[in-house]
Amino acid sequence: MTAAIIDGKAFAAKVRGEVAAHVARLKEEHGIQPGLAVVLVGEDPASQVYVSSKGKQTVEAGMASFEHKLEADTSEADLLALIDRLNKDPKVHGILVQLPLPGHLNSELVINSIDPAKDVDGFHISNVGLLGTGQKSMVPCTPLGCLMMLRDHHGKLAGMNAVVVGRSNIVGKPMAQLLLGDSCTVTIAHSRTKDLAAVCRGADILVAAVGRPEMITGEFVKPGATVIDVGINRIERDGKTKLVGDVEFASAAAVAGAITPVPGGVGPMTIACLLANTLTACCRANGLSEPSGLTA
Ligand code: NDP
Repeated sequence: MTAAIIDGKAFAAKVRGEVAAHVARLKEEHGIQPGLAVVLVGEDPASQVYVSSKGKQTVEAGMASFEHKLEADTSEADLLALIDRLNKDPKVHGILVQLPLPGHLNSELVINSIDPAKDVDGFHISNVGLLGTGQKSMVPCTPLGCLMMLRDHHGKLAGMNAVVVGRSNIVGKPMAQLLLGDSCTVTIAHSRTKDLAAVCRGADILVAAVGRPEMITGEFVKPGATVIDVGINRIERDGKTKLVGDVEFASAAAVAGAITPVPGGVGPMTIACLLANTLTACCRANGLSEPSGLTA
């Protein structure tokens, strides 16, 4: 292996520490405590794990955590009424509705009912538009975490060739916007891209957000490139359940200059950025200066 490992677990701990220090100052100097409300509808086991982990880390950072667990058959009207209350609650600076929602609920309608200033997931159409036009917005947590790691590793990204594999609204597209915002030359690849390996081999920065276990092998990687693996896939191997990324780690690490592992790469950064976004939203709501280095 030649690649340096970008340690997302350690970096996320550092980000959480910076958030906690800023939260402590807000309390001491202004008597303000940032608050995050997480809404979970139904009992999806993976979502329950995410929500409890978000709540735990919110409290550890010194913020208030408000968990709202609703029955799977909750009506849209009741969910919208809860969001309306949270929008108006001055103790709540961030609102996150855990996705996916049960099928009878319209996710777009629900997400777009969140006050954009409290939309810490950055999925509200206003925030998508603000990011797309290079204005101050709430930025989706996973791509924000990737950007922070890239800036930390490289310093300035201007002029680098970046290829993002995946064009989803939650990862691929916002990731591409953020890299463009940092003056990379950006290509977005997807399932209809011709000769994907050759396209990827043009990348100084290769971001894999495909949802296909270990699809990106060393053959897709330019020697010395930085590889960010967003994928989280559970597979069965040797009779055990294993977590792997969208990148085949061993072959890619033999060629890359730097690479994020799975687990311990992008994953931990996502919740750290959720906390950072809640802090940013709280500072903006109170007309205070934003923490530096924790936003796009
Ligand atoms: P989506 O399924 O929404 O999008 C996948 C994208 O990959 C699509 O744009 C699709 O193209 C493209 N794609 C699929 N197959 C191929 C292929 N053979 N060649 C090229 N492109 C392909 O996934 P998400 O963006 O939601 O998630 C991507 C991965 O990131 C998943 O593994 C997910 O678990 C993980 N993830 C991790 C997070 C974290 O915190 N670390 C957070 C969110 C997601 P097309 O549009 O043409 O269909």
